[in-house]
Formats: sequence, structure tokens, C-alpha cells
Amino acid sequence: MPTETIDLAAVRADFPALHREVDGCPLIYLDSAATAQRPQSVIDAELAFVTGANAAVHRGAHTLAAEATDLFEDARATVAGFVGAAPEQLVWTSGATAALNTAAYAIGAAGLVREGDEVVVTEAEHHANLIPWQQLASRTGAVLRHIPVHEDGTIDVSAAASVISSRTRVVAFAHVSNVLGIVNPVADLVALAHGVGAIAVMDACQSAPHLPLDLPGLGVDLAAFSGHKMLGPNGIGALYGTAELLDALPPVFTGGSMVTTVTLETAEFLPAPHRFEAGTQPVSQAVGLAEAVRYLDRLDMGAVHARERMLEQRMREGLRGIDGVRLLGDADAERIALCAFAVDGVHAHDVGQFLDARGIAVRVGHHCAQPLHRRFGPAATVRASAGVYTTEDEIDALIDAVGAVRGYFGAA
Ligand code: PMP
Repeated sequence: MPTETIDLAAVRADFPALHREVDGCPLIYLDSAATAQRPQSVIDAELAFVTGANAAVHRGAHTLAAEATDLFEDARATVAGFVGAAPEQLVWTSGATAALNTAAYAIGAAGLVREGDEVVVTEAEHHANLIPWQQLASRTGAVLRHIPVHEDGTIDVSAAASVISSRTRVVAFAHVSNVLGIVNPVADLVALAHGVGAIAVMDACQSAPHLPLDLPGLGVDLAAFSGHKMLGPNGIGALYGTAELLDALPPVFTGGSMVTTVTLETAEFLPAPHRFEAGTQPVSQAVGLAEAVRYLDRLDMGAVHARERMLEQRMREGLRGIDGVRLLGDADAERIALCAFAVDGVHAHDVGQFLDARGIAVRVGHHCAQPLHRRFGPAATVRASAGVYTTEDEIDALIDAVGAVRGYFGAA
């Protein structure tokens, strides 16, 4: 899809937060991988819900409750459709962290991982797709193993083939790492997992906002993503699952809204997705997220990806050319527009403050991926990440500013 199909001026006009200043400079928001800004239509959709139809769903006989229920279930269908899924395959959660924890607990409770079994993750996982599996392993007596990444940031697929064995029950991996930005070889990992009968769990947090995503087409059994990274509200995310697996998994949280018959001794549960959604649902957030994916659909995810690839190349080539800047995982691979880097002789937090004083918002630290940082060396890096609204000029401003960092701190 040609990049001209996105009218960037019109897109930017849709995002109120982009028009503020920081320290007298126009904001350059390069932290979309942490949280993306929201277009006015998403803010309006949430507002329209809370001012017009605010009510609890799936209970109550009144008009507002019926309207809220329709909006909530329509939102599910819209967001499921965005990732190629049927509505029953999409469980609302409070975010990707909740989705991945739900997956790990339910898999354990179903007895699908037992003592002596193995659970495999990659070295490049966000803590949200690592610690739930560590905890599952320690609860069950299973062994956690990991797939290494090459120096260039790509997954070592041949090592994966030896790490994944007949003892493997789960293979959990990010579609795109939130530090490396590289699109992982999903087909290879899914084939290896399924070849030994293991469940393939994908963290789609960093792909859902940037690439066309067809979860059934990718063949993963479970996947997780978060609304606030894809132009939507926070407090909402989803666990996607195949119908077969969701039906086999028990609920993790129990209570109202997820039951058929309850006695003092027992409870019968609704089918998926409702059996995983105990309690009062996050309705305005679901409505907002549905509007966010409609917004992305209107832009066309193919066009979004093409434009962000162009930004990514511009950012990486620019940063590569600066003396003393080291990019983590610099493979020429398929990527999203995200670069994590270290500046020789200057702490990442100092770089972050230097950039902030110029209106440039980046993330600094280990980005919830300590093992990956340990593997590459620096304890903390600077991460710049683009969104649908990022301009070439903003990328150039980042490169100019990073180019001045070492001189400013006397490290050049
Ligand atoms: N996985 C990845 C790759 C992420 O980038 C994030 C958010 N930083 C998460 C999981 C967790 O998402 P959330 O905090 O929205 O639950």
C-alpha cells in the first residue's frame, strides 16, 4: 500500500494530545510503544457512552442496560474482527498482562502443564510474558527454558528447534519485541510448538497497533494485546484463543457474570468468552477500543505498516550514523518503527532528560525486559517508538538531538 494513502496532517489533527507543548517546545511524542495517544473519535466514543448509555451489561431489564450490552458485544465483534477472529474467541481483560496471566493460570489449572514438563519462552520477552510462565513452572514443578536471540536481535530458530522438545507444553513468544522491534518468525515458532503438541501463546502487544494481524491465520492458540497501545483506552485488552482451547480452559476469576446456575456448594460456568469475564465489565473502555480499531481500519493497516517501515528505516539509519550510539539488535529485518539504543558514556536517563528538554518524549530504562538487557549489556537503554501520527520531521529532530547528546555531556 503506498504511503501517500495516509493524510498525515489530517491524522495529526485528530489527536489532541499531540498539540501541546513541553518546556516551550512542540511535543514530539516518540513513546507510542508504552502508550499511544488517542484520537478524538475514541475520546468521543467513551464520552458518548458514559453520558448516554452508562450501565452494567448482561443484567438488568432497562433501556440503558440493553443499549450498553449491545455496545459492549458490538465492540467485541469489532475488535475480534480486527484480528481476524470470531467474537467468541475474544475475552476482554484489563490489558495484555492480565491476558497472559489468565492464560498461564488457566493452562496450569487445566493440568496441561505438570511436573517435569517444559515451558519455553524467548530471551526477548517483556516481563508480562515471562514472569507468568516462571510462576506457572514453579507452581507445577515444570522447567522453564528459553530460546536465545542472536546478536542482531533475531530469534535463533535453530536453537528453538533444539530447546522445544517432546516435553514442551507451552511456547510463549512476542510477535514483536518491545525492545528490538523485530517481527519474530511466528510461522516457525508455531510449527515447532505444534510439532510437539505444545500450545503456542503470542504476545501481540507491539504488533496489533502496527501490522495487519490475522491471529487464526498465524495459527497461534492464544494471543494477548492491550488497548492503550493501539490508540484505545487503558484498562482494556484481550485474550484471543482458539475455540477448542478456550473451551478446555477453566476460569481464573470467578464471581458474577460468568455463571449459569449457582448453589451454595457449586457453580456452573458460561461458555467462553463470558466465563473468563467475572465481575462488572469495562464497558466504556471496550467501546473506546472498538472505535480505535475502526480508526486504524480506516487508515488501513497495510498503509500504516508501510508508512511505519519508512519511518523505522529513517530512524535506524539516522541513529546508526551517530558516533557512540549503539542500537540493540540491529538486524535488517521486518520491523516496527521502534529503536532501543545506548549512548556511550551517557546514562539513558540523562539522554531521556536531554531529549525531554527539547520536547521529545522517549522511554528510558529496561522497558520491562531485564533479561534481554542483560544479554546485550547495558542495564538501561533509550527507546524511541513511532505511531500512526509520527512525522519524518519528528524522526529527524530525534536524530539531531541524539547527535548532540555526547557533546553536551562531554562524552564525545
Ligand atoms: N508485552 C509487551 C511486548 C509490551 O510492550 C507490554 C507493555 N509495555 C506488555 C506486554 C504489557 O502490557 P500492559 O502493561 O498493557 O498489560
